[in-house]
Amino acid sequence: MLKGREKEQLRESLLAQGFDETRFTDLELRGDVRLQEWADLGYHADMEWLLKSIEKRLDPNLVLAGSCSAIVLGVNYLPSEKEARVQNRWAKYTLHKDYHDTILKGLKKAGSILEGQLALNRTDYRYYVDTGPVMERGWAAASGLGWQGKNGMLISREHGNWLLLGVILAKLEIEPDPPVRKKGDRVPELGALCGKCTRCIESCPTGAIPEPGFVDANRCISYQTIENKGVIPRELRAKIGTRIFGCDICLDVCPWNRFARSGRQILLSTRYDIVELDLLRILRMRIEEFREMFRKMPIKRLKLKGLLRNACIVAGNLKEFSDWIPNGSRFEDSDADWRRELKEALVILTTYEEAMVRPHAVWALYRLFGDEAREALHGARACEEDSATLEEYSYWNKG
Ligand code: SF4
Ligand code: SF4
Repeated sequence: MLKGREKEQLRESLLAQGFDETRFTDLELRGDVRLQEWADLGYHADMEWLLKSIEKRLDPNLVLAGSCSAIVLGVNYLPSEKEARVQNRWAKYTLHKDYHDTILKGLKKAGSILEGQLALNRTDYRYYVDTGPVMERGWAAASGLGWQGKNGMLISREHGNWLLLGVILAKLEIEPDPPVRKKGDRVPELGALCGKCTRCIESCPTGAIPEPGFVDANRCISYQTIENKGVIPRELRAKIGTRIFGCDICLDVCPWNRFARSGRQILLSTRYDIVELDLLRILRMRIEEFREMFRKMPIKRLKLKGLLRNACIVAGNLKEFSDWIPNGSRFEDSDADWRRELKEALVILTTYEEAMVRPHAVWALYRLFGDEAREALHGARACEEDSATLEEYSYWNKG
């Protein structure tokens, strides 16, 4: 078994590849894993791919036969610039090039270390960053990197809610690091150091945390703005507020963030410039600009139609939230030319070639301009054939 000085040498070598944390656990202990129960309640929405991998996620030997340790590697992604930290538009992890790609580079180097330093073969380990059939948070909790908070995220004493996780399963016995436990607990419990706090549950605008540790994707803004490839339910749109891609609300409110500092960012490539993007520019964006702007970023997977859909929702919320209005003024007090251009951009999107965008553009226009929208949309409505968009018109014109 690898322990003592040898184990610490391995930890140091892995940290030197740019990870902010390296922890070890055997595969006996694991954090709160109620994946099947979560799925049985339908909280996975339409993420069927998750259901297919539940068995593997619960049994690492189905992923790598003979594996006996998990090496958990954490990368702190709290932005180093205040503007990127405090904005309410983009989930903070999206203000970087795709972390799957950048962290993967670190995991490849980690693999070379296992081969060079410990004589493992390439078939003696497997690594994943968020996309494989492994329970990253469960192993991270077992390794003492943190504990699973009531918001379902891994919370670290040092890094708060701001860790991206990579896991290496290895056929190598390593002395496990101790988990974070409340006195008297045998296993790392959900909410181990949360105490009586329920801030994350209470602050969720859509009520997407029905019980501690369970996030209902059907109601979650992160799921709706990133994973949902269709129409976003009308009853959730106003609650999405200013969030164009992802949501950090239940992370931001966590009191454990007060100790967090930005990480070394060796395995991240920042794109804080996205924060300054203007809403009108997004609403008018063409495919060439989208590709160039979001090259190698997680946002590219949403595709232009998804971004336009989300931008329409953000536009429809401008009367309640001023974050996207130039100078942060109230919608009613904002520049008249800007309001006219915004309306024109939304009217154009009511006839956008991708039907998925259209109901959201109609929704935004009615919310912002009321009867004026009805006049502006007369022609578009007459030509509309998409059932979801027609339903949106009916909703605003009933009675
Ligand atoms: Fe709620 Fe946002 Fe957290 Fe989802 S990410 S559970 S919507 S606060
Ligand atoms: Fe735990 Fe409170 Fe943080 Fe939620 S906000 S994860 S309850 S400490």
